[in-house]
This record gives sequence, structure tokens and C-alpha cells, in this order.
Amino acid sequence: MFAIRSRNDSQLRRALRNLGGSFGGSDIRRRRRRHYYRMVRWKLTTGAKSKIRRLADLTVAALLLSVLSPLLLVLWAGGVQKELCRGRWAKPFWRYQFSSRAPVLCRSLPMLFNVLRGDMSFVGPRALLREELPASDPAAWKRYDLRPGLLSLSWLRKQANIAYTGEVGIDVEYIETTTLRGDLGIVLRSIPAMLFRGNSAEAQEELKLLGVRIDNPTMHEASQRIVSLAEAGEPGQVCFVNADCFNIAASDTLYRRTLAAADMVLADGIGVRLAASAFGQKIRENINGTDMLPYLCETLQSSGKSIYLLGGKQGVAEDVVAWMRGRVPTLRVAGLQHGYFSSNEEPGVLEAVRMAQPAVLLVAFGAPKQEKWIAAHKRELGPAVAIGVGGLLDFYSGRVARAPLWMRELGLEWMFRFLQEPGRMWRRYFVGNAMFLFRVARERMFGTALALDGRPGSIS
Ligand code: UDP
Repeated sequence: MFAIRSRNDSQLRRALRNLGGSFGGSDIRRRRRRHYYRMVRWKLTTGAKSKIRRLADLTVAALLLSVLSPLLLVLWAGGVQKELCRGRWAKPFWRYQFSSRAPVLCRSLPMLFNVLRGDMSFVGPRALLREELPASDPAAWKRYDLRPGLLSLSWLRKQANIAYTGEVGIDVEYIETTTLRGDLGIVLRSIPAMLFRGNSAEAQEELKLLGVRIDNPTMHEASQRIVSLAEAGEPGQVCFVNADCFNIAASDTLYRRTLAAADMVLADGIGVRLAASAFGQKIRENINGTDMLPYLCETLQSSGKSIYLLGGKQGVAEDVVAWMRGRVPTLRVAGLQHGYFSSNEEPGVLEAVRMAQPAVLLVAFGAPKQEKWIAAHKRELGPAVAIGVGGLLDFYSGRVARAPLWMRELGLEWMFRFLQEPGRMWRRYFVGNAMFLFRVARERMFGTALALDGRPGSIS
């Protein structure tokens, strides 16, 4: 014992001697020099980057203004509006726009003058109107660190219905991660978003598509509503529907009835958004289980409620729990069970869920099996809100990769899924999407949605 302590003491003395030796006069001067060079390099690179960005803005704005000058002159006659905004460092400036009589795509063209004058950039956080009060959170003031943009990441995500973290969060994310390459990506991704921008209809609380009722909350509202359903102490069912689900519902009466009886049916994917748009309706946010899980877990954690994971191959649910431990450490996991049990084992599975009394039960068997299973066993599962979540557990366990954000911003998540499993997915996406669009067009023209009993009928 004594020998160990004396060896440790001598090691400590040697370490202290070495440490003192590293901070002699010349060492300190060398360290100071290195620190100074690092600062200079940082200043030069950030300064150069902002100069390159400004030069690019100036060149492109000047080029566009000269090429588009005849069009600008014609539209100018229709009137120009100006709004007082706050730009970089919260400095006020007038932002110019053509009046609402000009075509939508051309309305923002006068902002090219704002770019030329240095009030705005092509890409940046959204320009805030002068009367918009800055959020009380100082992190939000970062939005004034850069020139506001003609295009912004938050606008792009809003167009794709995936602006879940809110505008301030996305603007701050942009400012913290901005690069010239990233800006170019935003410009390119904004082109299809501008051409196929959603309609300006007021979003309804509920809408009906191809005979299926869809609830239309935001992501935040949907997760709050699930917790409220759980608090009601009654069995509940929540379903997500994408284009493929609508195709299944067209020939599967039981599935259609299940959707009609569910407590909440949420729209998932660009197909449903386009279909809603064809009927002059608007989906507030693209709500799929995979994007919702972090929000739902946070809401459950803060209200002290528990979750049960049922489905996926052996070991998958365990890996999702490991993800939860990192993200929502105090969320109570009531239990987990893989999804490949036999019919003999089913009563045991139902009993285990009932005994665990989770507030929320995620069922991942794929659609429509999971929805029908929940509907059939709702009463035996106890007062849980059961949600059919398809391949969600595979994503969070890391078994299946999720499409990168830029693909989701372009509404191309389905393409990513197809490239991952072309053998299984080609039918669903290429034949299925064509069928779905055909059904939408047919209903749009002739109103031929199937009624709940399977006969064609009006949807109104
Ligand atoms: N699955 C299951 N039990 C079954 C059939 C499927 O647990 O009897 C799981 C499967 O392992 C996968 C999920 O259900 O994790 C289905 O994923 P898929 O992507 O096919 O569902 P979708 O999102 O397309 O409805």
C-alpha cells in the first residue's frame, strides 16, 4: 500500500516538473505566437468568405437585372411596394416588391436591387419586418448576424412541410452551418420549390381525400394530441397514410373502415400533399412517424408517460431503446417486443402490453397489417394510444438509413427508399404512385371516391 502511494507521488512530482518546464519563457512566447496566427488565419478566412459571398451576390444580381430589365420595366408600371425590414445588425432598410397584380414568380424581382445595395443576400435568414419583435431568446438574435436572404432554408423547409423546428430554429441552424456550397444547394433546391409551390389555401382542421378523412395538425399539435388521448385513459388509435396506403384502402374495405374509426389519421408524404393541392386543400405539415418520434418522446418524457415498442426483427427495438437513452434519458420505456411472434404467442404479447400499461404503443408491422391488428386488439391492449409506424424502428435502430435532409426538402424521400430496396419498392412507388395520381385525377373530375361500404360515392 505504502509502496503504491510513494510510486504515485514520484510520478506526480515528475509530471509537475514537466508541466512547469513546458511553460518557460520561450514556450510561452511560442504558444502566444501560435494562438495569434490561429486568430489571424480565422479572421482572414471568414473575411474572405464573406467578401466572396458579397462578390457573388453583386455579380449575379447585376447580371440578372440587366438580362431581366425589359421585364422589370413592364412590371414596374404596375406598381412597386416597399416594406421596412431589419437587416444585418438589425439595421432598417426598405425591401421592394411588385404589387400582388404581378405574376407570383416575378413579385420578388425588385429585391435584386436590395441585393445590389447590400441590404440583402441571395441566401440568408428570412428578412424580418421592422415591427416583428425579436424573440426573447438571445440565440434568435443570431438571425441579425447575416444579411437576410431572397431565399432561405426556413422557406425551403416550409415548402416541403418539414419546418418542424420552427423558423427561428432553422434560421439559426442556417447561420451556424452556412457555407458557400450550402448556399448553392439552397438556390438549386429552391428552383423546384418555387415552380411547384403549394397553394395558398387556408389549411382546414380536417380534410377528405379519396374517401379517407385526414386530420391536419402541425407536428407539435399532433404529439400533444396523442398525449391528451393517452390521458383520456381509453384505448386510442393513430394512423399515418401515404400514397401507398390510399391505394391499399381502395381495395381493402377493412383497412378503410379502420382508418375511418381511428382517433387521428395523419398525412405522410409528398403524394398526399399534391393530392390535397389538386382539391384546393392544404396539408399543414408532413407528419410521418419517423419525424414525429423525437417530438413525441420529448412530450411523453416531460409529462412522465411511458412508451412500448412492438415490432421489427429481433434486437431492433433494443437498439431503438439505446437511441432513446441518448436523446430522452428519463423517458420511461414500458416494454419491448419483436414483431415476429406466432399466433400461439399472441395472447402472451397482448397480456405483456396490458400489464405494462404504456401511454403510447408503437406497432411496427407495416401497413395495413399494423392498423388492422391494432383495431382488432384495441380493447385487449389496455388504455394505450396505439400508433402504426411501419419501418420506423428500422430507421432508429440504424438498420435502415434515412434519406438525407436535402432529399426530404425536395420531396424525394420515396426515391431514396426505392434506391435502397429496388426489388421490393419499384411496384409501390412506380406503379403505386401512378395509380394514386390516376385515382386523384378521377376523383377530381368525376367525384368517384369509394364510400366506406366499398361502393363509389361522393366524398363530400
Ligand atoms: N414486421 C414485423 N412483423 C411482421 C411483418 C413486418 O415486425 O410480421 C416489421 C418489419 O421488420 C419492418 C416493419 O414491420 O420493421 C415494416 O416496415 P416497412 O418499411 O415494410 O413498412 P411501411 O413503412 O412500408 O409500412
